[in-house]
Amino acid sequence: MSIHATPTLSLQGIGASPGVAVGHAFVLDRRRIRTPKLRIDEAAVAEELSRFRVATGLSDRQLGELKERLTGEAQDHAIILEAHRMMLHDPMFVEEVEKLITRDFINAEWAVRRVARRIRHMFDNIQDEYFRERRADVEFIADRIVRNLMGQEVDEEIVVPPDAVVVAHDLSPADAAMMVKSGRVAGFVTDLGGQTSHTAIIARAREIPAVVGAGRASEQVSPGDLLALDGTRGLLLINPTEEQLALFRETMRRHLASEQVALKTRELPAVTTDGWRVTLNGNIEFPEEIPSLLAHGAEGIGLYRTEFLFLDRHEPPTEEEHYRAYRMVLEAMGGRPVTIRTLDLGADKVPGRRHEREPNPAMGLRAIRYCLKHRELFRVQLRALLRASVHGNLKVMFPLISGISELREGRSELEFCRSELGRAGLPVGKRIAVGIMVETPSAALIADRLAQEADFFSIGTNDLIQYSMAIDRQNRDVAYLYKPLHLSVLRTLKSIVGAAKETGIPVAMCGEMAGDPLFTLVLIAIGLDELSMTAGQIPVVKQIVRRTSRSEAIELVEAAMRLSTAEEIDRFIRAEMERRFADVS
Ligand code: PEP
Ligand code: MG
Repeated sequence: MSIHATPTLSLQGIGASPGVAVGHAFVLDRRRIRTPKLRIDEAAVAEELSRFRVATGLSDRQLGELKERLTGEAQDHAIILEAHRMMLHDPMFVEEVEKLITRDFINAEWAVRRVARRIRHMFDNIQDEYFRERRADVEFIADRIVRNLMGQEVDEEIVVPPDAVVVAHDLSPADAAMMVKSGRVAGFVTDLGGQTSHTAIIARAREIPAVVGAGRASEQVSPGDLLALDGTRGLLLINPTEEQLALFRETMRRHLASEQVALKTRELPAVTTDGWRVTLNGNIEFPEEIPSLLAHGAEGIGLYRTEFLFLDRHEPPTEEEHYRAYRMVLEAMGGRPVTIRTLDLGADKVPGRRHEREPNPAMGLRAIRYCLKHRELFRVQLRALLRASVHGNLKVMFPLISGISELREGRSELEFCRSELGRAGLPVGKRIAVGIMVETPSAALIADRLAQEADFFSIGTNDLIQYSMAIDRQNRDVAYLYKPLHLSVLRTLKSIVGAAKETGIPVAMCGEMAGDPLFTLVLIAIGLDELSMTAGQIPVVKQIVRRTSRSEAIELVEAAMRLSTAEEIDRFIRAEMERRFADVS
């Protein structure tokens, strides 16, 4: 019997949180309300300003209450709500709205929308996807104020039916957090958003499959439609056929089975059959990812990308804000090692500031270069790191080091801040390991010298490959050249690891290559001490490590490195991995 009165429709979006879900659609319609646009008399200005202030105050209280209501795990999302509260009081936003009311004689609702639009346009020009995504936050804030100005209901409780796939044009972090808390959401689909939108981040942190950027999904899906979504491939099927459903269910079964294995292996060490121990750590952008990291068995944090603290704002975070974030992460990790990378900001990654556009930002004033140019910004972070170091096991890492002088200068800034804090009588940790990211060819070539002065290395393959192959990592036209198994990359990795071993310092990898199971044997053979990746990748990598003998891995890589082209090496390693680990998913 066929149960499909409606034909199947398939939509391709962006896979934002891996896994497969099948469930009935719950379409959340939070469409923007119509904004009344009125001209006002000069005499009405004072009242309009007061309406605006009351609505802002009310919005602030609502967000505060919402934050209070989030208990337990969902508490992590409180950080996002707090960021929204800060945006409400951002002087640039408030002053602009007030100026429009006073100067242009327009009502508060209209003024709020106009300022929001202006801020959104500023975000449009930012190249970095993450910061561009913050446009949505401006909208959420504006929407809340306008609703409050109009006396409309906000934050009504959303009752999600069990195992629903939530479909929305876009989701505010408040809505997403509340729905996740109900424990009933099987998956998320949004029309808007990218890999780094809040829905994507929250879904990943909670391991709920999600497809974002799905075009007009919220119009094409009707409430109650049967949906199958694949958050790994970014695929959404509306009213799938029986055969398609069977395939999805099989993938779901395998995914769950491998999660079960993951849980079982969580406490087991990543050690090869011949006793080679590798540490498996997690990469994070936000503290809210920590529960998932620990659930997947991360032994520590190998990379905390602190530039994400700059989101949603025009002014850099204060020392106190830096400190609170680092302390939270260190405490949540309970004594496990936490490697915090100093700001990897660059020309296009600094929101809210006017910059001369660099012709080639990837090779411009980025990361440690930026910090050494903007010393006070750097010192604010270093002071916060030093103060936070008493709360856990902190290691500090400088990004994009290209020579010894940068490392020395970075260290001397740290020491300068240490003595400053000492004079102020503030407690700081005694000795903090200071390492560097090896991600430029020049650092790789002088790794033996750098190893004399760094306490550890962490190889950033994302950049190392981009710079050594001379391919812009954002440029699709040259993406085909992005080959982690290129002989030049393998030789470079071997030489960096060799230099570290010779000097006796640990060497980690925290680029994407570290978490791709295709490369696990290769990295074991090369001799990495630590691999750092996103939470979901840890269990699979651990399974592979535990079923491998390092001596065999070394033989395999020696054979691979006798081949010449990246394609040959790739084919060879892929075939071997499939032969050995076909059952690992
Ligand atoms: C890298 O370059 O591999 C890395 C981990 O840093 P990011 O991706 O943040 O540049
Ligand atoms: Mg990098």
